[in-house]
Amino acid sequence: MSVTLAGYKKPNTEGSVLQFKKQYENFIGGEWVPPADGEYFDNPSPVDGKIFTRIPRSKKEDIELAVKKAHAVKERWGNTPAAKRSRMLLKIADVLDKNRELLALSETWDNGKPIRESLAADLPLASDHFRYFAGVIRAEEGSMSEIDANTLAMHVKEPIGVVGQIIPWNFPLLMAAWKMAPALAAGNCVILKPAEQTPVTVLLFAELIADILPPGVLNIVNGFGPEAGQALATCPDIGKIAFTGETTTGRLIMQFASENIKPVTLELGGKSPNIFTESVLAKKDSFFDKAVEGFTMFALNQGEVCTCPSRALIQESIYDEFMEKAIERVRKIKLGDPLDPTTMMGAQASEDQFQKILSYFDIGKKEGAKVLFGGEVFENKEYPGGFYVQPTIFEGNNKMRIFQEEIFGPVVSVTTYKDEKELLEIANDSLYGLGAGLWTRDTHQAYQIARKIEAGRVWVNCYHNYPAHAAFGGYKQSGIGRENHKMMLDHYRQTKNILISYDQNPTGLF
Ligand code: NAD
Repeated sequence: MSVTLAGYKKPNTEGSVLQFKKQYENFIGGEWVPPADGEYFDNPSPVDGKIFTRIPRSKKEDIELAVKKAHAVKERWGNTPAAKRSRMLLKIADVLDKNRELLALSETWDNGKPIRESLAADLPLASDHFRYFAGVIRAEEGSMSEIDANTLAMHVKEPIGVVGQIIPWNFPLLMAAWKMAPALAAGNCVILKPAEQTPVTVLLFAELIADILPPGVLNIVNGFGPEAGQALATCPDIGKIAFTGETTTGRLIMQFASENIKPVTLELGGKSPNIFTESVLAKKDSFFDKAVEGFTMFALNQGEVCTCPSRALIQESIYDEFMEKAIERVRKIKLGDPLDPTTMMGAQASEDQFQKILSYFDIGKKEGAKVLFGGEVFENKEYPGGFYVQPTIFEGNNKMRIFQEEIFGPVVSVTTYKDEKELLEIANDSLYGLGAGLWTRDTHQAYQIARKIEAGRVWVNCYHNYPAHAAFGGYKQSGIGRENHKMMLDHYRQTKNILISYDQNPTGLF
């Protein structure tokens, strides 16, 4: 990712907040619909801790209305030619690009992430996702095979129909784009429930693209997990549920879906190892510099990334020298006002998350890990009510809770390994298997180790790149299914086989 901010200037704070409504509604059947029972909740901004917007606290009735609207249009949308659906997705991507700054501001106010990340990563990645699936759906070919001289098998990919999608708060727009783009491209109607902590950008997105899709194709229903989320996941009239969030919630979603025998895809938590081999230090060149930057990736998005490289495994022989450079680099991370384009680390997404990270600072210290950097609250004088912590480096061993449990904050736990055997033992000693990083100058070693790491994504000599055309997803308790890449379309379709006989004669069995 190269950081390009294209003329962005920090807006006057009051002015930028005023661009957002004080209260949002649900987007159902192409209209803005208040919650059936009239209940709303306050959505605070983690930047300053003040109330940002009011959001519908939807329940079963609201979900059922959205499902009904989606069913009313599902046949028309499913039979819309792929070329036409593709053109609509391209228009959506254009709208995202045109409104890049507004949507990036919304992400920053709602989630606390620094504007340099929302402008340079979240927004371009989201629009690219729509463009990728707009292209892929047109390149799809059906298949026909001959069973015997008189029999043909035709395989047709049909949309599932109406699908439910539930997303987390760490990349509100990007997670929505990852879910919506393939589902819509494949011809499904969508009911999406954003995270209650960060619903605003998705609602703004719905407002901006409202006239592109037929009413009812995309529906956004807000609310809390055990209310709106559970109503969606247990609804018998959806054909599939796609979920991104915590592993514990994922387990529940599977149970809900099993009641109605519905397919699920799950993108869950992680505790990703970031492995530095001794060849990294062979020269002090730009690759070495890149590897040291690779270590600091635990602070991207304040560490609120499912693939946060939260365990660093450094080869014993280079440990002291590598860590000296790594700490120097972490010291240079600029903390502060998320709306300032030079800020590298902003606010944690919510007070709950902030408290959870502080509790892990205590847990790490109590279990005997050594604090190499940080480990405290960051006092942001500009926004004293916001939720800021220091990037934190612990030194310890892989049995500690800070190595085994997902903290979801800017915290990396560092340990050493002697050789490849020990490297793999530590890297794979985790319930999770989402991401991993591997830094080496030896391409043979890169391939051999990458194949043995139990994770769905192994970055070699890079970290935190998310191209739309590279499959992403978890091994072990990090999930089921994949996102991104054209293989994703099959999670949103079912295969119909039409078996045609050209034989005029009866079989003779009866
Ligand atoms: P969460 O599980 O608490 O919530 C995620 C979503 O599920 C929210 O919309 C929430 O309202 C909903 N939900 C909660 N309880 C529910 C219930 N009982 N029924 C139905 N829906 C329910 O997760 P979070 O705290 O929002 O997100 C952080 C987690 O997401 C981390 O564990 C992170 O690793 C994971 N994550 C994974 C990926 C990935 O691609 N693997 C990407 C981003 C985040």
